[in-house]
Amino acid sequence: MASADGIYNYSAVLMGSPIQLRLFEHNEALAGAVFRLIKRYEDLFTVNREPSEVMAINRAAGLHPVRVSPPVYQLIRCARAASLLPGSAFNLAIGPLVKRWKIGFHGDSVPPAAEIQRLLALTRPGRVILDDAASSVFLADKGMEIDLGAIAKGYIADRVRDYLRREGVSAGLINLGGNVHTLGAPGGGWSVGLKTPFAPRDALIGTLRVADKSVVTSGIYERYFERHGRRYHHILDPHSGYPLDNELQSVTVISPDSLDGDIWTTLLYGFGVEKGCAALRQRPDLEAIFVTRDNQVICSSRRQFQFTLLDDNFRVTDSIA
Ligand code: FAD
Ligand code: MG
Repeated sequence: MASADGIYNYSAVLMGSPIQLRLFEHNEALAGAVFRLIKRYEDLFTVNREPSEVMAINRAAGLHPVRVSPPVYQLIRCARAASLLPGSAFNLAIGPLVKRWKIGFHGDSVPPAAEIQRLLALTRPGRVILDDAASSVFLADKGMEIDLGAIAKGYIADRVRDYLRREGVSAGLINLGGNVHTLGAPGGGWSVGLKTPFAPRDALIGTLRVADKSVVTSGIYERYFERHGRRYHHILDPHSGYPLDNELQSVTVISPDSLDGDIWTTLLYGFGVEKGCAALRQRPDLEAIFVTRDNQVICSSRRQFQFTLLDDNFRVTDSIA
């Protein structure tokens, strides 16, 4: 059924996330093809169930290289490069810690400090050995595990965008649960909500107006658990092994490609507002919105989007960096 604005909504649950596709035509076949495309990539990248190519790499840790398909190789290559950037909070080899904390999954718990130290030793991105000619990946130490949870949705959102374009779709939106990608500018642009942290599901700080852009948000309020009065969220500091603890509640990145948005939400989360805004000066294609614990909404710049504030508990400022 079309909504009042002529938009048809299709939904599914994939990658443990609610997936939403919005089109301006009734086209079940196209929606089905999009969800199958996402599922095919999920089956390559998942670390949550067998079989997947990433699980095959992880199982062979310390034993032998594993030859993988081009999408898996490309994404791991890109994730490794992001992990090796100076001061990067992104680490594709964070798997042993993610699996131990189980944040957002059944059985979550706070690991003993000694165990965190032991697992940290198994998260060195330089020990992910790539062979371009063989298209193979080798985890040099037994117990190492790749986790693409911070980047795979971005890659997949870009592939959905490419597919919709090839199918002649001029206006549409895909939401992979935190990764929104938009095609076209219906009615002057798409409106994408910026969620209020720790508020009821549909509460919004404000809305962004964008056209042909990706909008990716990473926050501490989506997947977390509480123990002994403390909150533990799912973005881990690759240096300490504990959830990243700084002034931020969420980071949103607006960019042409969702892959960049997904990598940079994690990088910026680690940098914080000041260093993050400085880093973005080298990347005019990327812009960010930081939401701080003291309810400030800080835009690095506003070239690719307009922002409308809806919740007057928050204050919007532009970066002075
Ligand atoms: P982001 O901030 O982009 O990423 C956070 C995630 O990245 C963490 O959950 C962790 O997996 C990883 N991570 C944590 N710290 C770092 C770090 N410092 N550097 C790099 N990575 C880090 N969820 C389910 O509940 N069930 C499923 O079966 C399931 N299957 C999935 C299959 C696939 C292919 C993908 C991509 C995701 C799946 N998920 C599933 C969701 C997944 O567990 C993460 O919660 C999700 O990808 C987080 O995305 P985000 O955009 O919210 O957060
Ligand atoms: Mg991410």
